[in-house]
Amino acid sequence: MTVTADGDRRLLVLHVGGTIGMRATARGLAPRADFPAVLTGRLAALTSRLPVFEVEAFATPIDSAEAHPGDWAAIARHLVSRWQDFDGFVVLHGTDTMAFTAAALSFMLRQLDKPVILTGAQVPIDAPGSDGLGNVGAALRFAAEPAVREVAIAFDGLLLRGNRTTKVSTIRLDGFGSPNFPPLSRVEPVEGDAFGGRLTLDPARLHRPAGPPVFEIPATRDGEVISLRLAPGFAVGLLEACLGLRPRAVVLECYGAGTVPALDGAMRRFLHAARERGIVVVALSQVAHGGLSLGAYAAGSLLRDAEVVDGADMTFEAVFTKLVHLIGTGIEVEDIRRRLRLPFAGESLV
Ligand code: ASP
Repeated sequence: MTVTADGDRRLLVLHVGGTIGMRATARGLAPRADFPAVLTGRLAALTSRLPVFEVEAFATPIDSAEAHPGDWAAIARHLVSRWQDFDGFVVLHGTDTMAFTAAALSFMLRQLDKPVILTGAQVPIDAPGSDGLGNVGAALRFAAEPAVREVAIAFDGLLLRGNRTTKVSTIRLDGFGSPNFPPLSRVEPVEGDAFGGRLTLDPARLHRPAGPPVFEIPATRDGEVISLRLAPGFAVGLLEACLGLRPRAVVLECYGAGTVPALDGAMRRFLHAARERGIVVVALSQVAHGGLSLGAYAAGSLLRDAEVVDGADMTFEAVFTKLVHLIGTGIEVEDIRRRLRLPFAGESLV
């Protein structure tokens, strides 16, 4: 569906699923097939200040809890197939795993020459108090900004770097945060006008790609990256069980600045066995802000001894999807370890 209005930027809105396009059913909220028409109708009433946009939808919109890495690749392939036809892209996605998809897209679609903006809603678009139209409005405005040359999430008036973002609330309209990187841009909301408001953009925060776009969409296999979140009284047998699953990589969610329990030597044995078997172990902090400082505490020294990769200030979503991406490209273990430490798309300050 095409809606023509003021402005010379041409945008694609791709609906892949999520609450924004759901309706109430006997089993709870579920995707509705007529959402593109509903959205276009709601937007058409406001055409005077909109860019030109087209709405496309995946045949089967999903709750994003059902997303696999293959779905990230399908979105990336769709955007690449339409790359030359549009000046910017808006992807309507469920909020639950939106940060994973945004990070994954940022690794598959790098050095961009146009914006890719993900958004969704906490409340279905037709339900009272929905944030859906406002979020789509803001996303369209950000997607029409040629200075934005990266994958980002628009939510509650903020534009956040996709691979720096994490979902922070299941109910508040400001449902996303970017704990280790400031917002890229914001639109001030105007009561009763989804497309009004002043847009401020800080060019110094935007990603400035050095060369032409790089599209790299590897084939991936589920289950190759495992996450282990430590807790007091952690079941030691889980370490052995994890090795038994023969993962390619493990994200070890440590405490604070990078401390782990010794578990009577089981942690050291696990880390060294993983290193010997070519399993990449990345340490990450369970704390949202600040990142790791490996070696600051004796209780973290065994991570360094076992040459665990420092996940620095990356989000869990960014580390997980970067591992999936790098493994999918088929490179050697040492290259995976090296490239993890090189920011691809502004995912880390390190
Ligand atoms: N369960 C929904 C989803 O992630 C939540 C949402 O979109 O807000 O698809």
